[in-house]
Amino acid sequence: MAHSKALLVLENFIAGKFVPCSSYIDSYNPSTGDVYCRVPDSGKEEVEAAVRAAKDAFPAWSSKSPLERSRIMNKLADLIEHDLEEFAQAESKDQGKTITFARTVDIPRAVYNLRFFASSILHHTTECTEMASMGCVHYTSREPVGVAGLISPWNLPLYLLTWKIAPAIACGNTVVAKPSEMTSVTAWMMCKLLEKAGMPHGVVNVVFGTGAKAGEALVCHPDVPLISFTGSTLTAQRITEKSAPHCKKLSLELGGKNPAIIFDDADLSQCIPTTLRSSFANQGEICLCTSRIFVQRGIYSEFVKRFVAEAKKWKVGNPSDPTVNMGALISKEHLEKVRSYVKRAQAEGARILCGEGVDSLDLPAGNQKGYFMLPTIITEVRDESCCMQEEIFGPVTCVVVFDTEEEVVERANGVKYGLAATVWSSNVGRVHRVARRLQSGLVWTNCWLVRDLNLPFGGMKASGIGREGAKDSYEFFTEVKTITIKH
Ligand code: NAD
Repeated sequence: MAHSKALLVLENFIAGKFVPCSSYIDSYNPSTGDVYCRVPDSGKEEVEAAVRAAKDAFPAWSSKSPLERSRIMNKLADLIEHDLEEFAQAESKDQGKTITFARTVDIPRAVYNLRFFASSILHHTTECTEMASMGCVHYTSREPVGVAGLISPWNLPLYLLTWKIAPAIACGNTVVAKPSEMTSVTAWMMCKLLEKAGMPHGVVNVVFGTGAKAGEALVCHPDVPLISFTGSTLTAQRITEKSAPHCKKLSLELGGKNPAIIFDDADLSQCIPTTLRSSFANQGEICLCTSRIFVQRGIYSEFVKRFVAEAKKWKVGNPSDPTVNMGALISKEHLEKVRSYVKRAQAEGARILCGEGVDSLDLPAGNQKGYFMLPTIITEVRDESCCMQEEIFGPVTCVVVFDTEEEVVERANGVKYGLAATVWSSNVGRVHRVARRLQSGLVWTNCWLVRDLNLPFGGMKASGIGREGAKDSYEFFTEVKTITIKH
């Protein structure tokens, strides 16, 4: 297909150089529906070159002191922060998210990821035990693993990519990263800053392309001993199969079907605005978004009335408009998939209280072909319904009623996922009890998305394997060895 000259054309970043690719794929601006960028359609050959570069860079990088690595990472953080507005504009255009979200969440967090791991790597200690009777001391040492394969999704592009790159390189590994083919631009922009940050060539390599070609070539490469993956549970199953013959180390951060449990003693003035954000922030395209809201019978009617009224106030439109609350969904196919869930719920007898199919969406002239949808609230839906069981990953949330603590814990746990849950109550005892019983890697009580990067992040059941965070990422990105000395 012929393309106008104005298209942005990305190149792979291998051994410190931008390298063109023999074929490209189109990338769309979700808020207009136009192709605006061409992304390398890399395969085995490009992955091979990137792995070789990473392998060559490993001996020198892994023998640098943590402080030396830390300095380079901090410099990279400063450079991204200096260009924060440019990065935020690019992320918003590429992904469809609002400029406000990109400015206040995505890019600041990408900067913080680098600074956080640049700092935390300086503070780890290893273990030592003594066996006086045997005249022995034992201690552990930790070493980087080698070339890390990093595969990230499209919902929080630079945020999640740096959440992997930062701990990997801080620990002394070199990396080959593959961002989502739908959101590759900010990773490419970051590569432009690596030289200036002082990053030695080959430490960070980025190969762009699809999961089936570039992703799978990375997963199957024999010289990549560990894969850190964030994405869907289905893709994780495939990655697990493909990497099994090589016995690779895997970290899998996957989907969710996250409950919010709202007891009748909840402070609704806090709970309603937070639950709106937890349901619809970033178009509902966050693995941690709430999609099943259980409300205790005593406050159910009031909650629904106020929640729907507030959702109707959310402005959907041009992501670059700072007054907009919700931008465009990532792609036409994804929008259709999300809409199909609402139709299926309707066909099953559920009621749509606002949004899709109920309210009209007024879009600016330039956004008529964008992939927009209104915040949608579904009620009178059975727990077995696909809308209550499957990850929709869009601005759709279900509200249902419950009576007892015992009942709601069982229902909240009644899905295959176990990533994040939110509990709203002013009863401290109850909050602890429920949090302990929920099958969920993260439980927020009376808040949402408040993170301390020191502590473990990750999911149970189909939501993932392994945890990330200061100590957990350090353990994943290093190999431990126990050494015994007899004197
Ligand atoms: P996806 O699984 O389709 O793709 C994720 C990445 O994997 C992309 O880079 C893709 O190109 C690549 N990929 C696809 N097939 C591959 C294969 N066979 N081999 C290797 N790589 C392959 O997921 P997505 O649609 O990009 O992202 C949405 C999903 O990510 C949702 O399920 C969401 O919940 C999940 N997610 C989880 C977290 C978390 O921390 N738990 C965070 C964000 C998103």
